[in-house]
Amino acid sequence: MQNPNSVDALRVLATHRTRQNRGVTKDHTGKLIRVSSYYGENVFDIKSARGIPESVREEILKVSKSNKVLKKEHVAVVAAAVTEWATSRGATHFCHWFQPLTGLTAQKHDAFLHFKKNDQLRPIEKLRAGQLLQGEPDASSFPHGGSRTTFEARGYTSWDTSSPMFLLEEGAENILCIPTVFISYNTDALDIKTPLLRSISKISEVATEFLHLTGHYDAKQVVINCGAEQEYFLIDKSFFYARPDLVMTGRTLFGTLTAKNQQLSDHYFGTIPERVLTFMQELDCELYRLGVPVKTRHNEVAPGQFEIAPLYTDANLSADHNQIIMAKIQKLARKHDFVALMHEKPFAGLNGSGKHLNWSMMDDTGLNLFEPGPAAHQNYRFLAMVSIVIEAVNRHAAVLRTSIGSSGNDHRLGGHEAPPSILSIFLGDALSKIFDGILSGKTYAANDKQLMKMEVDQIGYLFQDNVDRNRTSPFAFTGNRFEFRAVGSSQAIGFPLSVLNAAVLDVLIESNAILKKLIDGGKGVNEALIQLIKQWLGKSKHIIHNGDGYCQEWLEEAKKRGLPNHKTLPEALDNFKDEKAIEFLVKTGVMQQQEIKTRYNVLLESYIMHRTIEFSTIQSMVKQYIIPSALDYKLKLQDAIKSHKELGLGKKSSAEISIYEFLTLNMDELYNKVETLSELVTSCSKMDNENSSKLMAKELLPLLEEIAINCNELEEIVPEDLWKLPKYFDMLFFR
Ligand code: ADP
Ligand code: MG
Repeated sequence: MQNPNSVDALRVLATHRTRQNRGVTKDHTGKLIRVSSYYGENVFDIKSARGIPESVREEILKVSKSNKVLKKEHVAVVAAAVTEWATSRGATHFCHWFQPLTGLTAQKHDAFLHFKKNDQLRPIEKLRAGQLLQGEPDASSFPHGGSRTTFEARGYTSWDTSSPMFLLEEGAENILCIPTVFISYNTDALDIKTPLLRSISKISEVATEFLHLTGHYDAKQVVINCGAEQEYFLIDKSFFYARPDLVMTGRTLFGTLTAKNQQLSDHYFGTIPERVLTFMQELDCELYRLGVPVKTRHNEVAPGQFEIAPLYTDANLSADHNQIIMAKIQKLARKHDFVALMHEKPFAGLNGSGKHLNWSMMDDTGLNLFEPGPAAHQNYRFLAMVSIVIEAVNRHAAVLRTSIGSSGNDHRLGGHEAPPSILSIFLGDALSKIFDGILSGKTYAANDKQLMKMEVDQIGYLFQDNVDRNRTSPFAFTGNRFEFRAVGSSQAIGFPLSVLNAAVLDVLIESNAILKKLIDGGKGVNEALIQLIKQWLGKSKHIIHNGDGYCQEWLEEAKKRGLPNHKTLPEALDNFKDEKAIEFLVKTGVMQQQEIKTRYNVLLESYIMHRTIEFSTIQSMVKQYIIPSALDYKLKLQDAIKSHKELGLGKKSSAEISIYEFLTLNMDELYNKVETLSELVTSCSKMDNENSSKLMAKELLPLLEEIAINCNELEEIVPEDLWKLPKYFDMLFFR
């Protein structure tokens, strides 16, 4: 009988999964329901909610767009309305839903159960105003980078009125989720959302001032828009559980590529496999009900890799939505007998997964600040905004690199088809030429005004065919927005968004001061804008790179240009200790010094923990799976060699003997490397975190990669029936 745990048996399982549509898009008669009829049904929309008087509604909406505090009696009205809404939809509990520095979301459930006064037998459902406004989870249990001790562990969650409450259908009942920030007793941010909200509110103020200075007086507010494209892998769950490295670390620590990987590029945009499509349909449906406007789904380049992208919304909501999307992908994948891998590099030699943050600014009249307009004066403003972002990314490239750092993303940045760890900006030819013109002053000399006007007028037209298609740039201008592509697939986007916002804020604040001075001094707005563009471009032009970002020549060229290249997180983290480098985060009010220190410690600890788990997982896999499989094969070969001799079939049986010798050599090497790794891990554990992380990146990780080579060689030679682990072949192609 077949061993039910053999890889063969797992293959049978994977290919015989049921593929029925379990989506909830049908009514009780089996008829498909149109999306618009259930979109957002699990979102509490204050604009339309019952039980809120019109005057209160207006007041709440106004306050949620500002920094003001809601009146307690208004909060009580919302609390009563949302309780009625949620409990009538089967909610028994509510929770403050927040994003601690783990990068995941956290929730602590509380029942709506209350009792009428003095009567323990008269239960009612209730959410008090105070409970909506504030919660008090134990802050010491979340990553705090040593910034908090248990005796002062109090942390507070506080309602974020700018992101709507929603119902999570989990288990048998529903839970009302209240998006909140998470702060300490003395209002230090203990989460990812707080700095993001600070950056959004500050940028709105400063960008509005910029618009006023440039003559656009109608604007009262500016929002940051973000659309985050999310990549992930799906593999059958039976293979996942048979690979200890996937279960423990989220990535394969070794594995050989199959004959057909992604070289045919036949997966990208290809027909979505039926079982995957069924999963995607249910995913979209659940997300629609949660008001997440997912728009695109497709196969990605690597086999088994997929993407989902929502329409852009304001950055805070977009960051919340991305958390919901990641959680839903993971939950529903399991329901469909898959496991979703969110790791940045689950398979060596194939594309990794990232998150492309499409980022732009828009005012409340609907003007996109990165959209070239039909008239010349609008285009100077547009060009100035682009030059501000270029200067911001150039000035703060190192800290931006740190903001996307994680042990997982280290494998992706600079890896197969991933933006490199050097930040450069793609502008495209048209825009680059216009900037060159402005810089050289040629096209913009007084006697050449006509030409200038013509070129600038034509910007909108020029862009139609000028967006980045080669996708090798970590930061690209894509027609009416920038796309930050170096972000990792598992990362909470709130942090890189906050750092990017702060970087732009830093330059925008200076730009306003420069413009004001020039205009007050009698310069026209366009003239002032041109001067500003020249100033920023003159300083930061070297970060523009329109060519291939993957090739070796670029690495050398970037070095010549002095662009920072921090290949690993431990290296990049030094930037967080550099007071000058992080000054802008503090100056713009986006983060406090202590919060950056906390971040530093949390990132460092997380790096060390992830790597340590990888090191111990490879050791046990080598000892428990790989060496035993290779030994089995050796015994088989021994028998063959012996019988060859006994049967007196000539002198030599060269195939068996050379395989035997190869196995002996390889196993010895492997064993010795694993022993060395174990010794190095012990040395690391005796060091402080900084030195330990650096040694891991510099010596242990390369050793791990060497161990992987040995494992791969054995995988390639040991017969299928003796190899106990699923291979890339299984994980990538069986579904
Ligand atoms: P591609 O894969 O070609 O880059 P997608 O359609 O997958 O494009 O994703 C593009 C993302 O960019 C979507 O989330 C979309 O809503 C978003 N986007 C489009 N315009 C803007 C904009 N002005 N600001 C921010 N995001 C935008
Ligand atoms: Mg896309």
